[in-house]
Amino acid sequence: MPKTRKEAPKDEVSLNARLLIRAGFIDKLMAGVYTILPLGLRVMKKIENIIRNEMEAAGGQELLMPALQPKENWQKTGRWETFDSLFRFTSHYSKIDFALGPTHEEIISPLVKKFNLSYRNLPVSLFQFQTKFRDEKRAKSGILRGREFLMKDLYSFHSGEKDAENYYEKMKGHYENIFNRCGIGEKTYLTLASGGSFSQYSHEYQTVTDAGEDTIYICDKCEMAINKEITETTPACPQCGNKDLKENKSIEVGNIFSLKTKFSEPFDLKFTDENGQEKLMVMGCYGIGLSRLMGTAVETSNDENGIIWPEAIAPYKIHLINLKGKEGKSSQLAGEIYEKMTKSGMEVLFDDRDDLRAGEKFADADLIGIPYRVIVSGKTAEYDSAEIKKRGEKKSEILPIGDIMKKIANSN
Ligand code: ATP
Ligand code: MG
Repeated sequence: MPKTRKEAPKDEVSLNARLLIRAGFIDKLMAGVYTILPLGLRVMKKIENIIRNEMEAAGGQELLMPALQPKENWQKTGRWETFDSLFRFTSHYSKIDFALGPTHEEIISPLVKKFNLSYRNLPVSLFQFQTKFRDEKRAKSGILRGREFLMKDLYSFHSGEKDAENYYEKMKGHYENIFNRCGIGEKTYLTLASGGSFSQYSHEYQTVTDAGEDTIYICDKCEMAINKEITETTPACPQCGNKDLKENKSIEVGNIFSLKTKFSEPFDLKFTDENGQEKLMVMGCYGIGLSRLMGTAVETSNDENGIIWPEAIAPYKIHLINLKGKEGKSSQLAGEIYEKMTKSGMEVLFDDRDDLRAGEKFADADLIGIPYRVIVSGKTAEYDSAEIKKRGEKKSEILPIGDIMKKIANSN
């Protein structure tokens, strides 16, 4: 059993981090920097697997690029000076300047160039799960805004604009799948946003919650939104022109950009076309913050007692509680249930602590937020039964063990 805490650190104001710290998913090292504890890592791995699955379905190949990056690459694009949140430092020995990667266009563009690709090799799409570093001004939103955080970034390389645009549209479908599969789809909106210095527009995936730092305007007809940052005048739906939009606070969980030749130019990233001529590659980039997604799930799904995990990203599916000490019929049955469940591939967190009262065990289960709670007591054990309750629901049932196994197995 993970150790839970009664109190979160006093300087931690965000709900996501307070709950995740108290429930034993993360630990705070300093503002914007967190250790992902075993429970938290299970959630992150689930999110990672869902994202990997969708990125591979989009033809992406996984790689891992360095976080430690040379100044020259950043000077080539001019971002050594202009990227506000870039961590820069100097080696004590060689006096060489380095950056800690906040994003990887400066690394992947010269990397792809080394392979001398022709039109036959394109498109190419590469992605990674990697720790990013950003010198964030405000690191007050818990794991929503880290100075160090985990991101999936995918970069695509195309022979022309048309192919890049098609890929961009296709990727929207995979992004939608990711947020649906992670259980935040209903509150997540495709949002027209600024294109930064790359192009006029980009698209963000914004999840509606009061904890968000962004403001978006939602069109109920199109299920689409527009980011406040690009509405100088009255906002209108980008799809249907509707002006009756709802203002909401939201969290940016993902962002997709069409980069055009913004990075292929400085790195002279070219391919040979059908006629043997050299042309600049057209690029796209596609990001999702995994740690931010975990925090967003917590912000959007909780109650006064703790977290309520969406099933697909919960650290375990079942929280098995033995109410009666280490000995007796109850603990014997609980042990058997644990064996049975784990043998049939179910993920079970087993609370067999004998030094805690029932109320304390229930409070921990609510705080941690695992979808199914199965309780074995002396009384249920007499009938080879256990009590089952879904997190977030009031009603519970006492069922024979076989029925409990079936109920959980059939739940998705
Ligand atoms: P923001 O506007 O919130 O600062 P951004 O637009 O700078 O984010 P991107 O460069 O688009 O972020 O990064 C891609 C994704 O990485 C974001 O959509 C978000 O999910 C995540 N992300 C960005 N910055 C952070 C951070 N400081 N902590 C955690 N996740 C982050
Ligand atoms: Mg962004």
